[in-house]
Amino acid sequence: MAEFSLDLNEDQQQIQKWVHDFAEQVVRPVGPEWDQKEETPWPVIEEAAKIGLYSWEFVAQCFSDPTGLLFPVVSEELCWGDAGIALSIFGSTLGAAGIAGNGTPEQIAEWVPQCFGTPDDIHLASFAVTEPGAGSDVSSLRTNAKKDGDDWVINGQKTFITNGGLLDRPNVHVVVASVDPELGSRGHASFVVPPGTPGLTGGKKEKKMGIRASHTGEVLLDDVRVPSACLLGGEEKLEGRLARAREGKSSKVQAAMSTFETTRPVVGAQALGIARAAYEFSLDYAKEREQFGRRIIENQGIAFKLADMKMELDAARLLVWRAAWMGATKKPFENGEGSMSKLKAGEVAVWVTEQAIQILGGYGYIRDFPVEQWHRDSKIYTLFEGTSEIQRLVVSRAISGMHIE
Ligand SMILES: Cc1cc2nc3c(=O)[nH]c(=O)nc-3n(C[C@H](O)[C@H](O)[C@H](O)COP(=O)(O)OP(=O)(O)OC[C@H]3O[C@@H](n4cnc5c(N)ncnc54)[C@H](O)[C@@H]3O)c2cc1C
Repeated sequence: MAEFSLDLNEDQQQIQKWVHDFAEQVVRPVGPEWDQKEETPWPVIEEAAKIGLYSWEFVAQCFSDPTGLLFPVVSEELCWGDAGIALSIFGSTLGAAGIAGNGTPEQIAEWVPQCFGTPDDIHLASFAVTEPGAGSDVSSLRTNAKKDGDDWVINGQKTFITNGGLLDRPNVHVVVASVDPELGSRGHASFVVPPGTPGLTGGKKEKKMGIRASHTGEVLLDDVRVPSACLLGGEEKLEGRLARAREGKSSKVQAAMSTFETTRPVVGAQALGIARAAYEFSLDYAKEREQFGRRIIENQGIAFKLADMKMELDAARLLVWRAAWMGATKKPFENGEGSMSKLKAGEVAVWVTEQAIQILGGYGYIRDFPVEQWHRDSKIYTLFEGTSEIQRLVVSRAISGMHIE
């Protein structure tokens, strides 16, 4: 039996260093520029594709790490460089995870590579659940898919979708739609909408507070016709699931929720990357900046803040690693550990980046210094992939076994 250890193995350490070097040399220097431009940083994605960092092979390697730690580790490193750019690089993973989580082996083999393309022909992917009237309440989706001969026809409007409707490059949209509105979230199914499918267009591109290099937009679906091979999991599985739901029997997973469960610790790790960047920067600053004839870290008021920042960061990372390990080793999340990890990491990131601004004083508020951007970037982590309130709902339901409203 293996001894308990929190050491990363040699492979993990090497990959961590490889991603860190890319984050330090390629991503961080251009982070503020793309934050200002609010555009997808194609040149950086191209660089990432050239070295194999933006590729389905790398994502598959991360997902198949038996300890579960590799993906959180590389996510933390890339977000340490710049979270908006990191999301542009890893945004396609959400679509790929939707396919991997719900698709048949044939669908996974066909579509996951197409979510990334090749260095000469970069593709992207998106995972579209949220709608104007269905955010936290996923059960109220209005986008619907109806069977028509051998095809499915999808109509609806998705909002706030990472990479959604971005049609500069071939974009694989994974769309969650209702196939039986009476069943709420149990009547949902996920569909691949292949690049170039008529009827899918991009709507409003959002202007955001943070992670501004990452595209967030509307996806409009107007009589989008896809073959039945694009129904993830296949017809038979869907029919069985719907029949069980109609009989009132419980089904193990809901299409959208199963994707979010596997990605939550990774999203928490992204938040950690931002928080670590802010902690490191403010620690260095506090050791240099002098006021009242001494370095500001020599005041307990500042030193204790930094001690708490480091402690919270490490506590959050332990929760993220635990959840990632539990996911990889198929331990049941009996206490909502996946949600717990993302909740803690997101809230720590917002708090740590705010403390960093405080430590820099007025300079923390000025764009010449990176901490104000880190604070803006961190806030999304208490909102997307389930708000902090929704994570608390998941945890409180799990620990109580009761239906908390
Ligand atoms: C930058 C960005 C990128 C995104 N990317 C994607 C993406 O790729 N794909 C995708 O599908 N979606 C995406 N989203 C959508 C995101 O997941 C939703 O915004 C989020 O789930 C919250 O939904 P909402 O905005 O409608 O808020 P609402 O659900 O309207 O919530 C408003 C407030 O009410 C609280 N609340 C709601 N219900 C309860 C309750 N039962 N108990 C307590 N409090 C409650 C919430 O916590 C929140 O504070 C993205 C959003 C943003 C901003």
